[in-house]
Amino acid sequence: MTLRFRLTFWYTLLLAVVLLLFAVGFQAVVARALYGEVDDMIQSQAERVVAVFEANIDPMRSRLPIPAIVFASQVFAQASTLQGTVIDKSPGMGDQMMPLPEEMRERNLAGESGFYTWQGDGVTLRVFSTPVHSPEGQVVATVQVARSLDTIDSMLKIARLALLVGGGIAVALAAIGGALISSAALRPLNQIADTTSRIVRAEDLDQRIEGVYPDDEVGQLASTFNEMMGRLQDLFNTQQRLVADVSHELRTPLATIQGNVDLLQRGAAQDPAMLSEGLEAIGHEVARMTRLVRDLLLLAETDAGVRLILKPVELDTLLLEVYREALLMADGRVRVRLGHEDQAQVQGEPDRLKQLLLNLISNAIAYTPPGGLVTLSLHRRPDGWVRVTVADTGVGIAPEDLPHIFDRFWRVDRARGRAAGSSGLGLSIAQSIAEAHGGSISVESKPGQGSTFEVLLPL
Ligand code: ADP
Repeated sequence: MTLRFRLTFWYTLLLAVVLLLFAVGFQAVVARALYGEVDDMIQSQAERVVAVFEANIDPMRSRLPIPAIVFASQVFAQASTLQGTVIDKSPGMGDQMMPLPEEMRERNLAGESGFYTWQGDGVTLRVFSTPVHSPEGQVVATVQVARSLDTIDSMLKIARLALLVGGGIAVALAAIGGALISSAALRPLNQIADTTSRIVRAEDLDQRIEGVYPDDEVGQLASTFNEMMGRLQDLFNTQQRLVADVSHELRTPLATIQGNVDLLQRGAAQDPAMLSEGLEAIGHEVARMTRLVRDLLLLAETDAGVRLILKPVELDTLLLEVYREALLMADGRVRVRLGHEDQAQVQGEPDRLKQLLLNLISNAIAYTPPGGLVTLSLHRRPDGWVRVTVADTGVGIAPEDLPHIFDRFWRVDRARGRAAGSSGLGLSIAQSIAEAHGGSISVESKPGQGSTFEVLLPL
């Protein structure tokens, strides 16, 4: 069963029930009012007749009061003795007698009045029967005043029919309207379903849902969906790029190894000098691939959110260690200096934090020409953060390259970078480590003047 059908069905059913309750209630109130008016009217007429009888006055000089008092059409009156002999009656009755049920006669004899409904000869009468007392207080006669209910009954019948037909038409119109409205309201959902199935069928992540009102609930669903698709597409593209990059990075060392193996097989192995050169080249490439695979594993681990085993780390001590390694790395080619150094302790994994700093420092040394200066410093900030900076006086980074340098496999000069043994993963790794520790990394650089990398870690 479609949502559209269910919505329309329940909405129509609810409306029909409400209309039915309304019609029944309305009919009951109107009937009560109309019947009540009849009762009031016949009772008051009867009381007037009785009053005249009991006062023994002759209104309008006629011998008996009824013809003079009761002259409304469809109203009949009759006065009878206790034996049932008719004394007086309204002219409209002709030869007819108004029957008085035994039970009512007895009540009248006991001095009580009452209403009853009488049905006969295709007419329905509402009757009020009341006793007439003698001056001594004895019941001497009865008076009945009646009115036909036929007009009221047929009026109520017409009203019932009108409510039924009108209600039926209203329900039918509501059902049609409801179906139209719900299908219009659900159209964007169909559109979403269509787009989704197109994406699934064609594996086309470019598709987006369009033409939906952005502010309503469905529009919000659509925009969330579009956002999700954008994110999926990014992830998918990143993954594809990563696979392409990894295979590309592995192809070069593999080709070198293959070339050297071919050379050695073709006889170079006989020459000790060429053998050792070939083996050295192979060893070099294997080491490079090992580094690459290690870096990738490290990145995959941080991506997968592998939990760090945190413990207190004296960052100043760690920086000192890194500084000593940097001196070895620089080998006198560039100067390495320890700048400002506060004492600071952070929660972290010492090996990872060391790797972060070494990545930054090895870059700083690599991209600084001989004679340049690399400065390490550590500031403990009053706002609860530690700031570690690695500043160099090297080649710097062009503004258009800055947004990319933390991307995986990204190098300013691809060919030269690869030849120099860089993988383009160093900064991505540094960034993931900083973020895994709840920190961040940023860079400021002026081409030709140098770069400063800044790492912020929570104390
Ligand atoms: P790589 O393994 O090539 O060093 P990174 O991710 O560490 O990869 O760095 C990406 C690129 O950013 C480098 O190829 C280099 O062009 C640039 N870069 C990184 N650090 C510096 C620096 N201190 N000075 C100038 N350029 C830098």
